[in-house]
Amino acid sequence: MDLTEKSRRVPEKILLGPGPTPVEGRILRAMAEPTLGHLDRDFVAIMDETRDLLRMVFQTGNDLTVAMSGTGSAGMETACVNMIERGDKAIICSHGVFGSRMQDVAGRCGAEVVEVNAPMGRPIDPGDVERAVKANPDAKFLGIVHAETSTGVLQPLDEIANLAHMAGMFMIVDAVTSLGGMEVPVDRLGLDMVYSGSQKCLGCPPGLAPVTVGPRAVEHIKGRKTKVQSWYLDLTMIMRYWGQERFYHHTAPVNMIYGLNEGLRVIAEEGLEARFARHRKNAESLWAGLEALGLELLVEPAYRLPSLTSVRMPVGVDEAVVRGRLMEEYSIEVGSGLGDLKGKIIRIGLMGSGSSRKNVVLLLSALGAVLSGEGFANDVGAAIEEALAVIDG
Ligand SMILES: *Cc1c(COP(=O)(O)O)cnc(C)c1O
Repeated sequence: MDLTEKSRRVPEKILLGPGPTPVEGRILRAMAEPTLGHLDRDFVAIMDETRDLLRMVFQTGNDLTVAMSGTGSAGMETACVNMIERGDKAIICSHGVFGSRMQDVAGRCGAEVVEVNAPMGRPIDPGDVERAVKANPDAKFLGIVHAETSTGVLQPLDEIANLAHMAGMFMIVDAVTSLGGMEVPVDRLGLDMVYSGSQKCLGCPPGLAPVTVGPRAVEHIKGRKTKVQSWYLDLTMIMRYWGQERFYHHTAPVNMIYGLNEGLRVIAEEGLEARFARHRKNAESLWAGLEALGLELLVEPAYRLPSLTSVRMPVGVDEAVVRGRLMEEYSIEVGSGLGDLKGKIIRIGLMGSGSSRKNVVLLLSALGAVLSGEGFANDVGAAIEEALAVIDG
């Protein structure tokens, strides 16, 4: 075994899947800064700034805005375990794998889960939510995924948030694949509990779950009759560490916070509007190029995510072979289908710095070449022309 430092070489790969996404060098360099104590004043200053920057991307003034130690799923657990008490009723929507995961997590927290489901590739129908809300006026929560990464569906939230709030329910929203890539209007829609993950549109390595909690939800958590079941994810204690008190709870992953801080600075520098427009433009360009290759997209245009696109594989083409060749021949990672869509689609992510003209052209060229190698004739030149016409047009 060669244990010298230089024996560990991690090759560069182009991450165009559902996450993690490409991490800019300046973020990785920030993470290599000296580790400080988690109560050190120089570190605490970085935490405070990170929280302000998180409020910017969440488009909120919420006092309770923190980065939980863990991946996006820890954000989901944080939302459920803090809001729900055993026996509470929760309406949880699922239009894909992550909505189903939220139903599972809410159930494990002791909720009586009322499911509202939609087929994979479609958004949740607000009419179905309305019926569930009417039939379950005693439900306390409405949980939903904003950007369903397993399908590439963007879930419109306005109408559903309104239905939930009219019925006095708290809105719990999964913004893992939307935060940093498109609007997540926490304050405008009064979303009560919203969580995300560092490795999608925020463009950082995996390991942190940004969470923001509205004032009404904070009161709800403080007024719980029972202790939060998870000691580690208990916001009533974590808010005392991120707040002025600096109460010791667990050791913050210090260098991860440096990385998130730098990633959020990158976003602030670009500006939210410009960043959202870039994600949208490059996605539209990719869609035009994929269709020009002769491929079919899973989701209809009105509900497509700018950050993730699901593409049906043509009959007779093995998607695992396509993904394998993209990796072996071009070092490009894309995602496979999950659940019912396994074997039927590939998922292409254009998130954070990965959302670029360069990557659109690269992906279309490589995918076109691989597909013709697999017997699916296509015109790469025409696809690139169509794609560039969208970007430049
Ligand atoms: C990725 C993802 C998660 C889970 O995040 P992990 O970082 O993998 O734990 C949850 N919800 C959605 C919508 C996601 O895309």
